[in-house]
Amino acid sequence: MSKSFVLRQQSRCWVEIDLSALERNLKLIRSALPAHIRYIAVVKADAYGHGMAQTVTRLMHCGADLFGVANFLEGAAIREIGSGWPILLLSSTLPEEDKQIIEYNLIPTVSTEEEVKRFSKLGKRNKRKIAVHLKIDTGLGRLGVWYEQALDLYKLIQENPNMNLEGIYTHFSSADSDPQFTNKQRKLFLQTLRGLPGFDPKRLLIHADNSAGLESFKNDDLFNAVRVGLLQFGVLPHFESLLSKLKVEAVLSFHSRVSIVKDLPSGTGISYGRTHILSRDSRIAVITAGYGDGIPTAISNKGSVLIHGQRCPILGNVTMDQTIVDITNLENIKSGDSVTFIGTQGNQNIDVKTFSNWALSIPWEVFCSITKRVPRIYYTGSAI
Ligand SMILES: *Cc1c(COP(=O)(O)O)cnc(C)c1O
Repeated sequence: MSKSFVLRQQSRCWVEIDLSALERNLKLIRSALPAHIRYIAVVKADAYGHGMAQTVTRLMHCGADLFGVANFLEGAAIREIGSGWPILLLSSTLPEEDKQIIEYNLIPTVSTEEEVKRFSKLGKRNKRKIAVHLKIDTGLGRLGVWYEQALDLYKLIQENPNMNLEGIYTHFSSADSDPQFTNKQRKLFLQTLRGLPGFDPKRLLIHADNSAGLESFKNDDLFNAVRVGLLQFGVLPHFESLLSKLKVEAVLSFHSRVSIVKDLPSGTGISYGRTHILSRDSRIAVITAGYGDGIPTAISNKGSVLIHGQRCPILGNVTMDQTIVDITNLENIKSGDSVTFIGTQGNQNIDVKTFSNWALSIPWEVFCSITKRVPRIYYTGSAI
């Protein structure tokens, strides 16, 4: 009996991750882009909850050129798997983390003069050049040097004997909601780049696009890399777009099981705070997953699950380990039956966007909220 089969049989709540779907998605995204575009696979936060080691291993085998992570611990985890891939730290590095850049051969992001000074010292101390990417803020108001001051910081880096500028990038604030502003950011970024003395896009990685950014990606000579997170996991930022032609597939599905089934009379209060009052004689099922597994309390009384291929509404508050659903209209539900929170059963599907809308959240947050109590079960196989 395979291990994943045993895990699934024994689990009260589990996630299934289809690594061949991940591979197909990456290949699809790459094939939609010009051939010279480098693919930075963004795998921060445990690869959006999909599992760093398994995801990264597969991405290494199927064509990721670089990896983007948030911090050195995530970078170190990738280094344990393979040494041949450049790893870009997308968040800034704290001063006491500087030495880890050397230890794990990571590429920090630079947004300030203070960072230039620190990385210069680091390079000098270790007798090597520190590879960096310069980040330019074109309107997110987070990391990056404000574009009007980018020239000065660029010069400082270029003149520094202990640093090696390998890339320049920016990040969009509203790529999935405001194409006009995204366009403005793109223009500001390109203008800024063109104003840099000695700027040579052939010697640098130039990137701006995250998943949603790709909607407005144009084959501009200056861009030669993209940073893809959500899309490779099979979630389209929009439905009405260029990208919707990309038939990416969901990589992750989220499952649980029925514990008990019982009949209750109309008027009974359900869950803590009696947050739902039955309006008819009902049959309920108690599901063995709750917010302790990453089911958001915000979907209380609002979301549904799939059992026997049918949608069953959630009744009352989601609790830490259990969720209650209405199965009055279903027959033959029994203890141990499979329940799907995110994924497909029969011809019914609940995708992560629907689920995150119920939770007034976003797919990124839903993925990151699946807790470590939940086993991840991996599938692989033909990626064709
Ligand atoms: C997380 C992140 C990405 C990836 O974003 P998606 O929308 O998931 O594709 C790209 N760039 C930066 C700087 C990020 O922090």
